[in-house]
Amino acid sequence: MSSGDAQPSPSRCDFAVVGGGIVGLAVARELTHRHPRMSVCVLEREGELGTHQTSHNSGVVHAGVYYTPGSLKARLCVEGARELYAYCAERAIAVEACGKVILATRPDELGRLEELQRRAAANGVTSVQRIDAAGIEAIEPHARGIAGLHVPSTGIVEFGALARAYARDVLDAGGTISTGCGVQGMAIGAKALRVTHARGVTEAGHAIVCAGAWSDRLAIAAGADPDPRIVPFRGAYLRLAPPRRSLVRALIYPVPDPSLPFLGVHLTRRIDGEVLIGPTALIAGARDAYALTRMRGRDVRDTLAWPGTWRLIGRFWRTGLSELHRAALRAALVRAAARYVPELRPGDVEPAFAGVRAQALGRDGRLIDDFVFSATPRALHVRNAPSPGATSSLAIARHVVGEAERAFGLREGGPPSRA
Ligand SMILES: Cc1cc2nc3c(=O)[nH]c(=O)nc-3n(C[C@H](O)[C@H](O)[C@H](O)COP(=O)(O)OP(=O)(O)OC[C@H]3O[C@@H](n4cnc5c(N)ncnc54)[C@H](O)[C@@H]3O)c2cc1C
Repeated sequence: MSSGDAQPSPSRCDFAVVGGGIVGLAVARELTHRHPRMSVCVLEREGELGTHQTSHNSGVVHAGVYYTPGSLKARLCVEGARELYAYCAERAIAVEACGKVILATRPDELGRLEELQRRAAANGVTSVQRIDAAGIEAIEPHARGIAGLHVPSTGIVEFGALARAYARDVLDAGGTISTGCGVQGMAIGAKALRVTHARGVTEAGHAIVCAGAWSDRLAIAAGADPDPRIVPFRGAYLRLAPPRRSLVRALIYPVPDPSLPFLGVHLTRRIDGEVLIGPTALIAGARDAYALTRMRGRDVRDTLAWPGTWRLIGRFWRTGLSELHRAALRAALVRAAARYVPELRPGDVEPAFAGVRAQALGRDGRLIDDFVFSATPRALHVRNAPSPGATSSLAIARHVVGEAERAFGLREGGPPSRA
């Protein structure tokens, strides 16, 4: 994805968007639409756009079943999914509302399944249906469970393709996108922010920082509360060997552990026909730990120095050990998925890829579930946008730009405020 590598970074702009992932590009797109007279530039550190979470995920358009009613996640996911389907239809981007099943395999999961159905209704996710064992088999012939939920509006898409389309919209609207442009610091001046980056300096009226796994660093350097911090969680996937893809028609999910913001090991058909199994969820030694063994001194030090990490480990060491087991042993990950698809065998799978979740962790050891945004002078920071952040990208962008307008006194369509 290299829509912007030829573009130099501007010396001045009204709005700088830091981070060319799906959230940053959606925000830049929203800015150019709502403020056509403002100059907008995206500054992305990597040589290409969307190389981190945007292109290392399950590719699932979430419907909004899981999230606490009234939370930003609940609202922005439901709105974002609706907008995403409409956008894909308009732009001829491949997307499929293939539906998913959430399966209970033990009686102690039935209460949580009921709670999910209640949440879905409260969040406005319509047509979710309770199904029994026979209903499960009718939808997913190789899956087993004692009860389940069928969510027809869940879908699949390649989020990288969506991000590329957002980038084209930004360029078509006159915005600039500069890659290879890692932002090192933002200093507040009388009339602008002095954004220092790998290609020099950009004087920006305001900035919106959408830096994913690195979002806490720029926010804290700009004077934001150090709480929460990003702790990277590596999520590795396996894929079904092509002759075994018929084991999964669409999307098969477990009933998630309510104390964790992760959805558990699932089986997901992708828009290209591949079937993934995963992801694992293991604290990583680097914010770009695509290889299990990758360690970066600063990332490890930041994780270990954060009191929240130790509180989290104290509470979840058992879960951590079983995640370690799944990460180290392919057979353990296959066994977790075989709870839902009993025919699955270790010989049916091959290694796929890994993604790294940018997960905010509070000082108190709480994994922050909701999306979090915070402001510093002339800048707004996206501090936590984990799953379903890609599904919600258009709605997050609308919300963030609205927050920026309020915080910086901008009027829609009006001239930039550089005073
Ligand atoms: C394993 C996994 C599975 C997931 N599954 C799903 C799913 O099925 N459905 C869903 O909706 N969501 C899913 N998500 C979540 C989704 O991928 C994220 O919510 C979304 O991609 C976040 O986008 P982003 O733009 O904030 O982050 P990113 O895509 O990580 O982009 C951040 C960008 O900021 C850039 N950057 C960082 N620091 C700087 C700097 N100093 N200067 C300039 N640029 C900088 C980075 O290079 C990067 O390009 C999943 C995530 C993971 C990891």
